[in-house]
Amino acid sequence: MFLHEINAGLDQIKGAGPVTCAALSRLGITTVKDLLRHYPRDWEDRSHEVPLSDFAHATVCTVAKVIAHDWVGFGAMRTLKVYIEDESSRGVLVCFNRPFLEKVLLVGKVYRVWGRFFYKYGDIQSTNFDIEELSDGGDKGLFGKILPIYRLSAGIAMATIRRLIKRALERYADSIEDEVPVDSIDRHDLFHKAQALKAIHFPSSVQEQQKAQKTLIYEELFYLEIMVGRRALERRGAGYAGSLTDGTLSPLQNRLKLRLPFELTPGQISAITEINRDMDAPYPMARLLQGDVGSGKTLVAFLAALKAIEQGGQAALLAPTELLARQHAENAALLLEPLGVRPAFLTGSVKSKGRAQLLEQLAAGSVDIVIGTHALFSRDLVYRDLRMVVVDEQHRFGVLQRQSIVDKGNNPDLLMMSATPIPRTLAFTVFGDLDVSVIKGLPAGRKPVITHLARQSNEAKVYDFVAAELAAGRQAYFVYPLIEDGEESDLKDAVSMARRLDEEVFAQYSTALIHSKLDEERKRLTMEAFLRGDVRVLVATSVVEVGVDLANASCMVIEHAERFGLSALHQLRGRVGRGSAQSYCFLMYSDSLTEEGKARLKVMLENNDGFVIAEEDLKLRGPGQIAGTEQSGYLKLSIADPVRDSVLLEQARADAFAILESDPGFLQPEYRCIDQVLRRVKPFQEVAL
Ligand code: ADP
Ligand code: MG
Repeated sequence: MFLHEINAGLDQIKGAGPVTCAALSRLGITTVKDLLRHYPRDWEDRSHEVPLSDFAHATVCTVAKVIAHDWVGFGAMRTLKVYIEDESSRGVLVCFNRPFLEKVLLVGKVYRVWGRFFYKYGDIQSTNFDIEELSDGGDKGLFGKILPIYRLSAGIAMATIRRLIKRALERYADSIEDEVPVDSIDRHDLFHKAQALKAIHFPSSVQEQQKAQKTLIYEELFYLEIMVGRRALERRGAGYAGSLTDGTLSPLQNRLKLRLPFELTPGQISAITEINRDMDAPYPMARLLQGDVGSGKTLVAFLAALKAIEQGGQAALLAPTELLARQHAENAALLLEPLGVRPAFLTGSVKSKGRAQLLEQLAAGSVDIVIGTHALFSRDLVYRDLRMVVVDEQHRFGVLQRQSIVDKGNNPDLLMMSATPIPRTLAFTVFGDLDVSVIKGLPAGRKPVITHLARQSNEAKVYDFVAAELAAGRQAYFVYPLIEDGEESDLKDAVSMARRLDEEVFAQYSTALIHSKLDEERKRLTMEAFLRGDVRVLVATSVVEVGVDLANASCMVIEHAERFGLSALHQLRGRVGRGSAQSYCFLMYSDSLTEEGKARLKVMLENNDGFVIAEEDLKLRGPGQIAGTEQSGYLKLSIADPVRDSVLLEQARADAFAILESDPGFLQPEYRCIDQVLRRVKPFQEVAL
């Protein structure tokens, strides 16, 4: 039988009384199969000896003789120190809160000792150790093997969980069947399921533990990809139907192209070609458009919208901030209106009368494209015929939000855009059934931004440099991690720096402040003044991270850069270098920044490619931080980690898709047999657009 079919309750396992069961249920364990799936979070290798003298490299696992006792401190603080000696060295066991060890660790006797030791006060000592008397017949079984370490909850001891799992394995493991095709097991050198379960809990060697881990990770990823692949198939109807056209520009798209003062870049052309092909295919598009900051995604979005509009439908363009939505709306007025397209703008600050009128027009179909913020989700928004949804900076939106706007149409095409690249590995799992287009390259004539690191104490040099750029007619951004001085008074903040830059540093130039707490009207006026060039220095928080597009800005100064994620820094840097002039980015860091922190910032010096930076960011911060994944819970797999296990993920994906290719119904009747995986993967259903 399959593991999931073991429905036995914990009462089937000897030793699992009511108190233990209650504690286990707090860990989510209520049945035998849950228990078997409670994989160790780590293992302690006590299978071979590590003498005291090796303490700096590994956890000591040795046989040592007690040579003396000593007591330090007074009263309640009195602590026992036990001096031990093995063949290599002497050491000290510091028995905090364990005075009873005086009667256990007897001078002259020999014990097995396991623990992490460190060097302190001239001794090699440990405060956290396990011991077992060598000659003791009542072997606790803690030595000479690899021990599993489990997550615990109050009321249950490690030894209890180990014992219960051992019993459950003895009773059930051998009857458990494979869920992964045998062919894959052979090809990838995996264990059969029964063996994998035994070895994940009680491996007899490190190799065995690794192989068991690989097996279970593969299994999880394989089913994940089966789900992803199935959904892709469903979305596309019967099989992978191809497009009906070659994706060349439609008449209306061509008219926009001819009006542009520049040529489309090759990257933009290939993206719109792929989009057009999707739109001409018999299933709704679900495409992720990735392109580095400044690559010109907005234009591609407009082109896509034009095609839907040309065919009599409506389009919606969703942006995460009012600032950005407004900028898009202005571009739409500039680029689309002359083509006869009727754009509208809707955000939270569009109130009563204007709003009511707009809703009417949308419902009547007298608006062709609506551009806005979260306001586009509101329930009373009804379209006559929504056929294209574009989500800009898609990682700023939750899965359900995206879905709620898609639901307003009848299977509309969906285009999601992001400059925060989802590394390939994650795109596989998180957006596994989406198509991905990448705009490669930037518009011609852009010079890469020159990036410098500067210590805070060198601020004068940076400010002088910026002053020279301002004198040459350019504009600058200054970005701070905080709006106002809070608890951390050693940090510069936007409000007080705006004052200082305005009054002291750049007294002859106009400066302005923008941050998220200002009201929308104020933000709008400030932005307009900056875009017009009336404001020369814009002091901001990371609100300027997305979207703002001003070719004349040539300097981006980010103070306390160590406070920002690398991808955020890259986005911020992308605000400059949008014109033909050479641009500069200064990353200023606190004088006390560690070498490690500096090394992280150096990634920004060495890379101009958002994808590379995102991969680095991912390595440094872990997948939980990656935009767009944290709200969705996609990554809550039980043992696999799509980033760490990317190689296995690709294999599992290839295998899963190959199986689906020949047998699109693979596992359909046995869906139940992966209930656990299904449950975890559920959020995908929301992505199955
Ligand atoms: P992003 O991909 O970061 O959203 P935008 O769509 O804001 O980039 O485009 C950045 C700037 O590049 C805009 O000012 C836009 O008008 C300009 N642009 C877009 N496509 C081209 C092109 N093919 N050639 C030159 N400039 C372009
Ligand atoms: Mg953009």
